Amino acid sequence: MKAVVYRGPGTVTLEEKPKPKLGKSTDCIVKVIKTTICGTDLHIRKGDVPTVDIGRTLGHEGIGVVEEAGSAVLNFKSGDKVLISCITSCGRCSHCKNKMYSHCELGGWILGNRIDGTQAEYVCIPFADTSLYHLPQGLDEEPLVMLSDIFPTGYEVGVLKGQIKLGDTVAIIGAGPIGLATLLTAQFCSPSQIIVVDIDDFRLQIAQKMGATMTINDCNNQAVEKIMQHTNQKGVNVSIEAVGSPKAFDTCQLILAPGGFLANIGVHGKSVNLHLENLWHENITLTTALVDTFTISTLLKVVESDKLHPEQLITHHFSLSEAIHAYDVFENASKEQALKVILQP
Ligand code: ZN
Ligand code: ZN
Repeated sequence: MKAVVYRGPGTVTLEEKPKPKLGKSTDCIVKVIKTTICGTDLHIRKGDVPTVDIGRTLGHEGIGVVEEAGSAVLNFKSGDKVLISCITSCGRCSHCKNKMYSHCELGGWILGNRIDGTQAEYVCIPFADTSLYHLPQGLDEEPLVMLSDIFPTGYEVGVLKGQIKLGDTVAIIGAGPIGLATLLTAQFCSPSQIIVVDIDDFRLQIAQKMGATMTINDCNNQAVEKIMQHTNQKGVNVSIEAVGSPKAFDTCQLILAPGGFLANIGVHGKSVNLHLENLWHENITLTTALVDTFTISTLLKVVESDKLHPEQLITHHFSLSEAIHAYDVFENASKEQALKVILQP
């Protein structure tokens, strides 16, 4: 079968690999129908993720059909259409029992990281009963790929951790796919304002179409001043960091109103300055998390009821054989006006 394989820093190749076989009785072999590339895959390609061994098949998102189910799998049988969670969960360890699947002692984020992933014709999913979801019938399937990772991430780590409430003023720093998924799901909480900050006009235009009440291009570093002016120097109730940079984190702390929530989603490679000298008396809450994907079932229902349209984030389509080109397009997202790219085996 064809698979997208990590071959050391800077190199990802398309290769022929043997089809995966059932390992444990709790595994399912899934024939991949659609998958996508995540920002994390670009980090892996650069060599930034040391847990990824050379020879690893990448990818942690996708939908597919169960080809073969292990003897202990109760919820799925061959022929079932499934959504693959980016987080593998055993369902039994203390973290899983605490709904913190990302820290599962036997799973967590292992797909396309510690075990072979979804950017291939077939993938073996461990703990299938608790890591796969049935696709609702009669729905356009392709958009559901966005529910493997980015929508649960935006909703759980941004909206829920940020505790957005009716009438709140919200700022989302970063309008990449995760920032935009946060923007779409934040609207379920009916905040009065959602300000989106980025340095890419194309993404800000999309944010506006998706419901941002104000967009700011921060290439001249004026976001803080503009947000404070716009809120009569009060600041925002919730600021969401969806970039993963010291500058974006700074913006988030500088615009926070008393009692505010700063929800960090961004993946940080460098330390940031936490300005406790300004914040110690401001009653703020700072949250961090990795996505647990405990909201996938909820989000599937919301898509089914036509209240969420994940296809809004899909800009490009490629066959799996064009995967390396697709990585380049996704890496040059600004020039290519790319958000999420679909790969089809
Ligand atoms: Zn991802
Ligand atoms: Zn577990």
